[in-house]
Parts: sequence; C-alpha cells; structure tokens
Amino acid sequence: MKAIRVHAPGGPDALRYEDVPRPTPGPSQVLVKIEAAGVNFIDVYQRTGLYKVPMPFTLGQEAAGSVAAVGPGVTEPKVGDRVAYTSILGAYAEYAVVPADRVVALPDGVSTKQGAAAMLQGLTAHYLATTTYPLKSGDACLVHAAAGGVGLLLCQVAKLRGARVLGTVSTREKAALARAAGADEVILYTEQDFEPEVKRLTNGAGLRVIYDSVGKTTFEKGLSCLAPRGVMVLFGQSSGPVGPFDPQVLSQKGSLFLTRPTLAHYIVTRAELVARAGEVLGWIKSGRLKLRIERELPLAQAAEAHRLLEGRKTTGKVLLVP
Ligand code: NDP
Repeated sequence: MKAIRVHAPGGPDALRYEDVPRPTPGPSQVLVKIEAAGVNFIDVYQRTGLYKVPMPFTLGQEAAGSVAAVGPGVTEPKVGDRVAYTSILGAYAEYAVVPADRVVALPDGVSTKQGAAAMLQGLTAHYLATTTYPLKSGDACLVHAAAGGVGLLLCQVAKLRGARVLGTVSTREKAALARAAGADEVILYTEQDFEPEVKRLTNGAGLRVIYDSVGKTTFEKGLSCLAPRGVMVLFGQSSGPVGPFDPQVLSQKGSLFLTRPTLAHYIVTRAELVARAGEVLGWIKSGRLKLRIERELPLAQAAEAHRLLEGRKTTGKVLLVP
C-alpha cells in the first residue's frame, strides 16, 4: 500500500510517498481502509522534529474509512462498518491498524469525509469549550487563529454555549469566515495590537478565557487581556513555542490560571471518547456545527498540504485522499 513516511526531520520535502506492507490487525485491533485522512498542525510539529517520534514513521493522526478486517477477539466494530478515529499515528496511508476501542462508528447523515474532518479538530474544540474551561452564557472568550481548522469550530461551539466570542485572524477574508462561524468581534492581529482592542471591546473588564493555539507571538500579550482569575488555555504553537516563563507573572496579572492541554488526555477512556465524539458528530448531523472542508488533496500531495497549512493559506480542514 501507499503511505507518507518521514525518515528524517525536515521541511515538507521530508514527506515521502512510499510503498509499505499493508498491516494486519492483531488481537483487539481493526484494519481501517482509509477514505480520507485529516491534516493537522501536529503533523507539522512531528515532521519538523519539534515533537519527537522515532523515525521512520508514517505521519497522520486522524482518519475515517471502513473496517476492512478485524483481529482476534474483536466483536465491535464489524467488517464494512464506517468508522473514524484520532490520536493514533499512521493515518497518511491507504490502510491503518487501530485499536478497536479507539474507533467510533459514524452515524447515518455524517459522511465518511466529514468524520475524518471532525475527529481531531472537532473533539479539540469540544473539550476546550466544554471541559478545559466550560464556557457559560455571557463569558467573554478570545479565540486566536479564529479562521483556522480548530478556530472555526471553537467559535461555533463557544456560541452554542452562549459565550461572547472575540477572534483574531491575519486577513480580511479570514475575518469574514470567523464572523460567519459566530465570532462577535474579529481583530486583525497582523494590523492591530490585539491587547488594546480586547480592552476596548470588553470595556476594560478583560476576558474570562483565552484559547491560544498561536503561542510565541500571542501568549505573553494575552496574559494582559484576562480578567482577574481568568484562564489562559495554551493549546498550540503555530507561530513557535512559548519561551521560559516565571509563574509569578500569573500573580501579577491577576491570579491567573494557565493550562497546556492536549486532546489525548481528554479522551482517555472509551466512554469519554464516545461521549465527546457522539456530541460532535450529532451537532454535525443536525447542522448545529458546520465543517468547512476547504481542500481535498491526493495522498501523494501531502507535502503541498503542509506548505499550505504552515503558510497560513488554509481556512478550515484539509483532507488527504488515498
Ligand atoms: P490552523 O488551521 O489553525 O492553522 C494554523 C493557523 O495559525 C494559521 O492559519 C494562522 O492563522 C495561525 N498562525 C499564526 N501565526 C502563524 C505562523 N507564524 N505560522 C503559521 N500559522 C500561524 O491549524 P489547526 O487547526 O490544525 O491547529 C491549530 C493549532 O491548534 C495548532 O497550534 C495545533 O497544534 C493546535 N492543536 C492543539 C491540540 C491540542 O489538543 N492541544 C489539538 C489540535 C490542534 P492566521 O493566518 O489567521 O494567523
């Protein structure tokens, strides 16, 4: 089968389209024939070596398709079932072996490609807004990179929970998309300093929570935008990692809370995975949550997908189709 492999850390050209043996499911595993794999920023971090993975490896953390075979002892899912999964390495491929208890069944009314697009970014938006800081009606929150893959979904989930959503984006086109996703106010942080803008838009009160996936260029300034006892949720670093940090700053800026969450710890048990995915897929089915599948590229063009994502050229989901 074909797969995208990384043999050494590097730029997009480090992605190699290769032939590898089709894997066989062992006990408690299933073989998924992948219809689409999601492209996510974590794939970039793993390709460049920012996140360490033993080399060589097949990239990709998210996919959907149909069950092609099941290993010994597996009763659910069954061959032919449509399933999706996230946080298992090896999705940029025609087939992948996945633990049976890590796949979720796709409901009728949600396409397999929607399933591939929803699992990583959708479940992330879900846990950030419902669990890390459970937004409630009237809370003012800031979503950085509001027109990105996670950003567009997070704006929508925040609105479902009744929050007031401020978003940052780099271009006017992205601003329009963030607004369409529910952002009440959008700041072009490439043209305006977002700190005084946030203060103006909140009448000096500041924010209950910031969802920051941009990191290096936004983190420090964000701390000055929070209300006393506000929550800084740093969940990514698309502009680069945040440097060393003195916890005393949290006291000086208003007894703030800082957390650095990651999806894997919010889907630890099967019950939590199924509940979170069930709610997200249910919202998609009912139309309450709109996925923006912006681009579908052939698997062989994974390097181009990475160039677009890293180059801030994407707004929403990019899928690779084997
Ligand atoms: P996005 O679609 O959001 O793409 C990244 C966006 O970041 C860009 O479009 C851009 O938006 C913004 N950005 C700001 N500065 C830069 C820069 N210097 N270089 C590149 N992009 C920049 O990607 P994803 O939705 O896949 O992921 C968003 C973030 O969320 C990533 O940091 C990712 O690691 C993180 N994440 C974390 C998870 C977790 O559980 N912790 C799970 C999922 C994602 P603009 O042009 O508007 O500035």
